[in-house]
Amino acid sequence: MLNVVGLTADLIRRGAPRLAQWAHSGTLASIDAAFPAVTCSAQSDYLTGLRADGHGVVGNGWYERAECEIRFWRQSNKLVQAPKIWELARAEDPSFTCANMFWWFNMYSSVDVSVTPRPMYPADGRKLPDVYTSPASLRDRLQQQLNREVAIRNLDRESRLLKDVQKALSRAEDGTLGICLRCEEEIPEKRLKAVPWAAYCLKCQEKVDRLHAAGVDIADESLEAAA
Ligand SMILES: [Zn+2]
Repeated sequence: MLNVVGLTADLIRRGAPRLAQWAHSGTLASIDAAFPAVTCSAQSDYLTGLRADGHGVVGNGWYERAECEIRFWRQSNKLVQAPKIWELARAEDPSFTCANMFWWFNMYSSVDVSVTPRPMYPADGRKLPDVYTSPASLRDRLQQQLNREVAIRNLDRESRLLKDVQKALSRAEDGTLGICLRCEEEIPEKRLKAVPWAAYCLKCQEKVDRLHAAGVDIADESLEAAA
């Protein structure tokens, strides 16, 4: 089940060929809009097949009498006080399994696998993005995988920067620093102040970035041609 806010059958037909094909292979049902039409209530409707009076999630936050406070964005699945679709499906077929990815009320759930945002708040006031997962080992695997990717991206960026600076230094020796490698116009001082190693004027940089994004390695070619 995909939960996409505002996605109507008409939008699937007109703009989502893959989803349309998927829907075509099964069934497409329409539902009456959730009330209140807010994230937590609507998602709980879909998770239980009931309305707020059946599952108790009356909004994104509600008044806790014991604490005398309105508590928003609570995460325990136990707050959805009705059987969930995976529990009903499991009762029909014990081999049924279900993963709940990033829906609300996704902690301490009876679902087989869950992943949900859960920032860490260290004592120094920072907020660090993080996730809660069940089984707990899944978090370590995701963190390891994503951290590795982030580290590789950072390393990539740093080595590119180092190369750019080295090339700028050799242009400084030639006396061509500050001349755009593409159009050979002078790079405006304002840009050089911000990026002293700039190889292109802003206009050419945008062109080069577009070519780069398309997978064309024009920067190195023209740099070598210029060298
Ligand atoms: Zn230029």
